[in-house]
Amino acid sequence: LVSLEHHPERSTVHVRGVPIGPDSVTLIAGPCAVETPEQTLEAARMAQAAGATLLRGGAFKPRTSPYAFQGLGELGLRILADVRAETGLPVVTEVVAAHDVEMVARYADMLQIGTRNMQNFGLLQAVGEAGKPVLLKRGMSATIEEWLMAAEYIAQRGNLDIVLCERGIRTFETATRNTLDISAVPVVQRLSHLPVMIDPSHSGGRRDLVLPLSRAAVAVGADGVLVDVHPHPEEARCDGPQALVADDLRVLQRSLLDLASVLGRKG
Ligand code: PEP
Repeated sequence: LVSLEHHPERSTVHVRGVPIGPDSVTLIAGPCAVETPEQTLEAARMAQAAGATLLRGGAFKPRTSPYAFQGLGELGLRILADVRAETGLPVVTEVVAAHDVEMVARYADMLQIGTRNMQNFGLLQAVGEAGKPVLLKRGMSATIEEWLMAAEYIAQRGNLDIVLCERGIRTFETATRNTLDISAVPVVQRLSHLPVMIDPSHSGGRRDLVLPLSRAAVAVGADGVLVDVHPHPEEARCDGPQALVADDLRVLQRSLLDLASVLGRKG
């Protein structure tokens, strides 16, 4: 269902009217984790001022350590919904458990499946039935074939509104948190009609890499980027070192718009 053979035209997925697909380069920005109403609204305003059209933010955080901040849960979702009402930005947020899908879908405009859950097949099937677009991150140790098969689990339940997101894979390299597999973008586009984005924040784990990785991804054809922003990264409860501040985000969006126009795409 997700292969180009089945559907020879590249797809555009609409998230509350915002397109993600071959005609545009979509910027999704927001905090890694929803921490407070003020922090989320401030991050959303930074995102919107820079030109992002979708707000990201984690209410359920799949942390490596059980002692790390796990997110605010449903309270975080309520904060995201309030910020959407305030700014008009549709919300992309992660769901980590099949039994939470219905509840998260009541608040979210797009459901994110994180790298650690890419092969959680029960969760994939549940989001396939939730009636909301899905952002499917690549498992950090998954092959492209496994990633596309994970998308197939969602599609098989009747939901073809799937956006793939390359977020770095495990390699021997330790200079970055994970290695952004830039070749995944054109490889996937030759196999699947689904839009493909990249997440330079979680792959690099470093603020200074977000701009160059984003530029590289858009240059090879990515349909958008998903980035972390925070009004006070030094106080962030999660992944502060990779979060952009307002100026960084403006520079990023300017640069993506320039690239998009060279490539004949809308920013
Ligand atoms: C995230 O986007 O909040 C996240 C945790 O990303 P990943 O699943 O790619 O690590």
